[in-house]
Amino acid sequence: MKTIWVCLSCGKTSEDRYGNVNTTPGWDESCFLNSVKAKKDHLVFEGGYVIQIKDGGIIEDNLKKEKDGGMNKLEKNLKTVFQETDKNMKCKSFVTFVSARKKGSGTPYQKPIKIYPKYYIAAGRFSPDPDMVECDGDLEVLIDAEMDGECACSSYAVLNIKYKCEKCGNEEFRELPQDSKELSYLMEWYLEELPEEQRDRLLDNKLQRELEHQKEVERFHQESQAKFQKLRKELTKTKKKK
Ligand SMILES: [Zn+2]
Ligand SMILES: [Zn+2]
Repeated sequence: MKTIWVCLSCGKTSEDRYGNVNTTPGWDESCFLNSVKAKKDHLVFEGGYVIQIKDGGIIEDNLKKEKDGGMNKLEKNLKTVFQETDKNMKCKSFVTFVSARKKGSGTPYQKPIKIYPKYYIAAGRFSPDPDMVECDGDLEVLIDAEMDGECACSSYAVLNIKYKCEKCGNEEFRELPQDSKELSYLMEWYLEELPEEQRDRLLDNKLQRELEHQKEVERFHQESQAKFQKLRKELTKTKKKK
């Protein structure tokens, strides 16, 4: 399978990401940063530039990888927030459980048949029935980022925040952040309380990531410099021959 790097912002191509082999003239730092590795037979060209990559044509997308990594990190951070603010983040919904057996295996388990979320009880909308118990299941936090558009260079992402109790399956936790705005409010509050020691750790992690990024860009500059020198040498040679 033949592959090639494609710049998503201008459509230039190069067989290596640093712009050394079979490269469209003018491949620059922006191309380097915005490029994806793609299957050659999935590309649509117009006037020498890629105008479309057909579905399934992108093999490696460095920028997106970085972004996705960032989102997982956000999810991890949020989990840390919860763990630090409430070491035992439990469901605390009121639930009626009945004894049941799993289909097939027949394993006995407690099946939730009625759930009153904590928020609605606090709001006075429900009051727990006598047969209800406070659920002690652990909360699971899930954060999805929906990228806006197909372009990997887009920095705009819509956050999808979901919670789920591992025991009763309740997903209604209105007291917790529901969207980016509420999340940023929680983050502000968290940052105010952030211990210096943890702040130093964040700093170290970020610096390390930035250094790695910088190294890649520097390597690109060095390679283009070397290419330029070589080209100049060849030019002087041809001139001398004449
Ligand atoms: Zn480009
Ligand atoms: Zn629960």
